Amino acid sequence: MSDYRDLRISVIGAGMGGLACALAFAKKGFKHIDVYETASNLGFVGAGIQLAPNMARVLDRWGCWDGIFAEATNIKASSIREGSSNRELVHVQMPDIAEKYGYPHCTGHRASLAGGLYEGCKKEPSIKFHFSMSLADIKSFGPDKTVFKVQPRHGEAYDVETDILLGADGIKSAVRTALLRTLNLSGDVEDTGQAAYRIMLTRSQMEHDPELLELLDSDVALRWIGEKRHIVAYPISNKTIYNLSTCQPDVNFAEAPSITYTTRGSKSAMLNVYGDFHPIVQKMLNMVPEGEVCEWRLRSHSPLDTWVLGSVALVGDSCHPTLPHLSQGAAMAIEDGAVLAEVVSRAPGGGSDREALSKALKVYELLRKDRTTLLVDLAAASARSLHLGEGKAKEERDRQFAMGMKKGTPIPDKWASPEVQQMIYSYDCVTDTDERFDELYATLTGEPNGHVNGQTNGYTNGHANGVTA
Ligand SMILES: Cc1cc2nc3c(=O)[nH]c(=O)nc-3n(C[C@H](O)[C@H](O)[C@H](O)COP(=O)(O)OP(=O)(O)OC[C@H]3O[C@@H](n4cnc5c(N)ncnc54)[C@H](O)[C@@H]3O)c2cc1C
Repeated sequence: MSDYRDLRISVIGAGMGGLACALAFAKKGFKHIDVYETASNLGFVGAGIQLAPNMARVLDRWGCWDGIFAEATNIKASSIREGSSNRELVHVQMPDIAEKYGYPHCTGHRASLAGGLYEGCKKEPSIKFHFSMSLADIKSFGPDKTVFKVQPRHGEAYDVETDILLGADGIKSAVRTALLRTLNLSGDVEDTGQAAYRIMLTRSQMEHDPELLELLDSDVALRWIGEKRHIVAYPISNKTIYNLSTCQPDVNFAEAPSITYTTRGSKSAMLNVYGDFHPIVQKMLNMVPEGEVCEWRLRSHSPLDTWVLGSVALVGDSCHPTLPHLSQGAAMAIEDGAVLAEVVSRAPGGGSDREALSKALKVYELLRKDRTTLLVDLAAASARSLHLGEGKAKEERDRQFAMGMKKGTPIPDKWASPEVQQMIYSYDCVTDTDERFDELYATLTGEPNGHVNGQTNGYTNGHANGVTA
């Protein structure tokens, strides 16, 4: 094979990362892209999501940003408030995000983002979806021959041979499990000790209350913070829905975590957790119909030694799950997809050199790992600061909020802090790949160890930290 576009690309999972991978490869001209998804269709979780400029930049390249943007809220300010009093600790105006970074910071419905990606995929004849199909195991990681086993929901399991296998199968990734097991490495999922309620209130629920209507009609993303807890809220879906996402100690999953880490929460438990928050918050939580409280357990794992083995690479939450406090999880997964398509199409040999393909995947890891680790760490740091209880540390935090309000200095909520926004939002993952692929590729030496247990992917790299954020 001398044309990389003839490579067979197999993607496991049709979440944000998997859809992004499929679309990215199709846009680069790849002709054979197969996506395997456990679910019988894309049943999107009913929840909001923040659409940061670095994500929009990638989506726009693929021609699917305009439709998503048309339904989104263009956020012009963020406001951090004390949960108990509703007192504003800091108000960060963001009127010029689009001018600064080329794209606005928006909020939208998850269905709008995933739907936009999926519609983009459906226009590409090279992408084939296989629903109700789960990856069961990986029989061979390449680089010579990559074979995995697919289990249909109804029917006999069968083997698939591919050239590149991408594990975009989320926090419970079977691809990650197989890859780490083969290398004799550990990577157990960890509890973060935190859980989230996801709530969506409709315009008809809020429109009779002027105080709530003002929130729904605003262009502000709000955060109410308190000890060990906070709530993020913003309008989505052309301001027909007000989305609230909470974060609190995870106490309700101790008994029986479900496969998806979600559970039907108890309304009274939720009201109890936020019982000392301001009446405006209480009013909204009270509007949630009994039986419709959805709680998610927030999971993570420590940074992996490798994301790549032979012709297999991990994507999104399968390799860098994050707490949601920086609103970058899906953005990172989407960037991963874009970078993967770039590196594979640049591998020397046009697809015929298997080792070059494996090295190209390793360049993807080098391009992505430091940046995603940094963002994951910043999200965790935000949580520590936002969730402080009474005491000196909280006083210092609130002083920094006040300074930030007056002077534009860094503020403890990384998501709203202008210098963190600059670092995250200005980043163009495709340009970065373009500029650094050759240099990083040249640093990779040694033989791939697709068959050797007990070691990471055998390429060594003089600049393992080669990613500047
Ligand atoms: C409360 C909360 C709020 C968040 N807010 C934001 C935000 O505002 N902005 C943002 O950018 N990110 C946000 N995120 C993060 C974001 O949702 C995730 O990081 C992102 O969805 C990860 O995408 P993924 O494709 O890697 O994984 P997933 O979305 O989990 O997709 C994995 C897919 O793989 C499928 N699958 C699993 N196993 C198999 C198998 N063996 N075979 C076949 N298919 C399989 C699953 O069914 C699923 O469809 C938030 C997360 C949480 C929990």
